[in-house]
Amino acid sequence: TLTDRLSRLVKTMRGQARITESNVQDMLREVRMALLEADVALPVVRDFINRVKDKALGQEVIGSLNPGQVLVSIVHKELAATMGEGVADLNLATQPPAVILMAGLQGAGKTTTTAKLAKHLIEKRKKKVLTVSADVYRPAAIEQLKTVTRQAGGEWFASTPDQKPRDIALAALDHAKRHYFDVLLVDTAGRLAIDEALMAEIRDLHAAIKPVETLFVVDAMQGQDAINTAKAFKDALPLTGIVLTKLDGDSRGGAAMSVRQITGAPIKFAGVSEKIDGLEVFDADRHAGRVLGMGDIVALVEEVQKGVDLEAAKKLADKVKSGDGFDLNDFLSQISQMKKMGGLGSLMDKLPTQLAAKAGQADMDRAERDMKRMEGVLNAMTAKERRQPSLLLDGKSKASRKRRIAQGAGVQIQDVNRLLNQFEQMQTMMKKMKGGGLMKMMKRMGG
Ligand code: GDP
Ligand code: MG
Repeated sequence: TLTDRLSRLVKTMRGQARITESNVQDMLREVRMALLEADVALPVVRDFINRVKDKALGQEVIGSLNPGQVLVSIVHKELAATMGEGVADLNLATQPPAVILMAGLQGAGKTTTTAKLAKHLIEKRKKKVLTVSADVYRPAAIEQLKTVTRQAGGEWFASTPDQKPRDIALAALDHAKRHYFDVLLVDTAGRLAIDEALMAEIRDLHAAIKPVETLFVVDAMQGQDAINTAKAFKDALPLTGIVLTKLDGDSRGGAAMSVRQITGAPIKFAGVSEKIDGLEVFDADRHAGRVLGMGDIVALVEEVQKGVDLEAAKKLADKVKSGDGFDLNDFLSQISQMKKMGGLGSLMDKLPTQLAAKAGQADMDRAERDMKRMEGVLNAMTAKERRQPSLLLDGKSKASRKRRIAQGAGVQIQDVNRLLNQFEQMQTMMKKMKGGGLMKMMKRMGG
């Protein structure tokens, strides 16, 4: 998997201090493969890789991160940005009824999504919702919308196959106005492929009802083809949003990236089941992880970046370099930095499951408890003891000091000794790697 490949790369980059043309190339080769495997269209992949490369080469590597980790983080951020920043809800800011036009290929999930949206609007936004089908080519399509609208708790406006789509939509709009509906959802005929006559029809429909939202419904399983469909619909209609359906399937969801890039429209919702409540507000961040197939390893990297106090880390590194020594205060500050990141348990949650399983929850729990105990012991020391660990390591009164500390922290003397051992190991390690070893220390503590 990509996670495995990237972790391996990240490991090989560990000794490298800078992002260079060559380590970027290695990394991007893997990312490129992952994107193609996820069915992102080739031109979109090419564009993306170039953007990441530009960003990466200008990026400084800070604190305890290595170039590999910084790159993973850049890739993820750029991917999420490509698929849309944050979440975009439906725009209903217009004189009611707000008209929403559904467009897309046959089988994409327009009718299903129409009902899902009706439910969403009724329940989440307390709207009075009317649906209508302008699909006059398949009589069953009108009945289908009727059924699912009922399930959604919305109202359905009757239409018949002998009417013109434009007339149906206008009649429904008139009805919606007179009965004070907040929203009118207009379902349209499917196209098996890009068909000029049908494109002309939906353009005409659009001009007649002037929707505030024109949603392009696209099947996530469409893969590489999504790019052509998206182009055709974008040329025919001013799209305001995308609904990506069938994300519950085994597609890696690369279509999201292609479609978003080609249309420039935000992905607003994701269909995640055939059922009427199988609709989610699209989350670009989460989806980026899915496309890369890398669990939440990127979230882990970001967490590390966010949680670590870079100033403190730098001070520590300077201290070690200048020979000032690593004392127990620094040890305490390392532990609180880890806590700031949500503790080991929270970091574990973000690792891909294979890795997490390897580490073992029991071990994690134990490590977490140890960390708390260590903090307690450190806090039971006097400031002077923390500044001068030698008082505890080889001072004359070390035994009585340790006894006092153990009592204060409510632990055994052995616990104090264990901490001092760990501290000494840490000190040696810090000297070896000249500070900034938070990640390494976490590994060590996590077993
Ligand atoms: P339309 O031709 O665009 O109106 O497509 P439909 O709404 O009739 O959906 C076509 C098929 O896809 C139906 O069998 C739906 O149940 C199914 N479908 C739609 N959205 C989803 C989804 O998000 N997940 C899954 N698994 N199936 C979906
Ligand atoms: Mg339909």
